Amino acid sequence: MQFVTSRSEALVKLNKYIENDISNYNSKRNFDFGVNNRSNVSCLSPYITHRLINEYETAKLVLKKYPFQKVDKFIQEIFWRVYWKGWLELRPKVWTDFIEDLKNIKEDEKYLKAVKGETEIECFNDWVNELKNFNYLHNHTRMLFASIWIFTLRLPWQKGAEFFMKHLFDGDAASNTLSWRWVAGIQTKGKNYLAQSWNISKFTNNKYKNVKLNETALPIIDKREYKFSPFQINKSEEINEQLIVFENEMHIDFFDLKKYKKNLLCFIRK
Ligand SMILES: Cc1cc2nc3c(=O)[nH]c(=O)nc-3n(C[C@H](O)[C@H](O)[C@H](O)COP(=O)(O)OP(=O)(O)OC[C@H]3O[C@@H](n4cnc5c(N)ncnc54)[C@H](O)[C@@H]3O)c2cc1C
Repeated sequence: MQFVTSRSEALVKLNKYIENDISNYNSKRNFDFGVNNRSNVSCLSPYITHRLINEYETAKLVLKKYPFQKVDKFIQEIFWRVYWKGWLELRPKVWTDFIEDLKNIKEDEKYLKAVKGETEIECFNDWVNELKNFNYLHNHTRMLFASIWIFTLRLPWQKGAEFFMKHLFDGDAASNTLSWRWVAGIQTKGKNYLAQSWNISKFTNNKYKNVKLNETALPIIDKREYKFSPFQINKSEEINEQLIVFENEMHIDFFDLKKYKKNLLCFIRK
């Protein structure tokens, strides 16, 4: 799987996916058939995350070809992304707390073994290597990976989320952080996602069998509450005449730049 950073390439991939494969999405999307067989999912997330194509044009193109009932799952997944974005935007402290938490977590032996893919769990080790080599993991595998990380390896979810952000081409502050919180049982409080051996066997097409996991762990407890803090839309003309574009927006033509007096581009240096 190759990701090319151009809008025209992204549109070609989107159109090909709609033309050839999307009709199987509802029934096949949960299977991870391995790196050489990804036609059951779109693999569009790096393009969407970096705004080479956006959620609305993607949904519009899909619905031009198929009635909603035939592609409902795909459209719903696209809108999960939009939902996570909005959720985090209204509670920015979730992100700043995540960054603060990371400063206080030590990288011990157990953690180092996990990120080198040297645990006792074969599928987990393979996924670590896949993530590092291909910078992508299937959605179901991300859920299983995060669950094994948190509940079987007993590692802090924050370090797992950081590890994903470091390697994923689609790394996204909202989808990633909130999905990790969801698996841990702190996003939907008290409801954790537990990886189970039968589930791994079924959805990897029997590639991995009899995986030894903690299948009964309780959700992680985090008592911090995050109040909804709606950002203020500033009605003063002067401020609204400025546009700030962040580095993950790779296609600035989505904005009508002529409408703004000042266009600020924001890059993060590492
Ligand atoms: C622990 C964990 C971490 C994740 N981290 C990220 C991340 O950093 N960036 C990211 O874009 N997605 C993340 N996801 C969501 C999802 O796994 C990926 O968006 C999806 O696997 C991308 O592959 P695809 O394009 O083939 O998806 P498809 O299944 O083809 O879905 C189509 C599009 O819908 C959106 N989408 C699909 N599933 C989800 C979902 N569960 N949540 C939000 N949007 C979704 C994506 O934009 C995707 O491109 C994470 C999920 C989990 C469980």
